[in-house]
Amino acid sequence: MTESIRSKRTRAHHQSGPFRVGRSRTGLGLFATEPIRKGKFIIEYWGKRVPWKDVEDEDQNRYYFDLNTRWAIDGADRRNTARYINHSCKPNAEPYEMRGKIKIYARRGIKPGEEITYDYGKEYFEQFLEPVGCKCAGCANGGGRSRHAFRHASQRASKRSRKR
Ligand SMILES: [Zn+2]
Repeated sequence: MTESIRSKRTRAHHQSGPFRVGRSRTGLGLFATEPIRKGKFIIEYWGKRVPWKDVEDEDQNRYYFDLNTRWAIDGADRRNTARYINHSCKPNAEPYEMRGKIKIYARRGIKPGEEITYDYGKEYFEQFLEPVGCKCAGCANGGGRSRHAFRHASQRASKRSRKR
């Protein structure tokens, strides 16, 4: 495959919208470049749909997004710009499952320059974030994960992690 064909293919899958990848407190993150109204679609969590029964490296790959008990989205592909969205216990965006796709919407108005975040869900939080301490803005400012967030975590699409 020539270089030009490859870059065309990459462009075809590149996700564009009112955001850019930039430096966040914990590495890279996704930031708004324009005001995003509450309820507005932001980005799809894009990846290959894989049956959970074929997933073997669940602990190595943190990018599996739980669609349902049978299917997951493997979002590890770099063309999945939504993979840069960090977890927050006080998020400004929220993922929804729609016809086998994960779409991320603004749960409140988001200002230009603000980091876009969503709640990864209770399972992910307990497996990957709680042991090392959550570094989201809410927790760093002493707010911590609210009971409100806990109550809703199990109701929303969440990144799946292996049950212990
Ligand atoms: Zn937190």
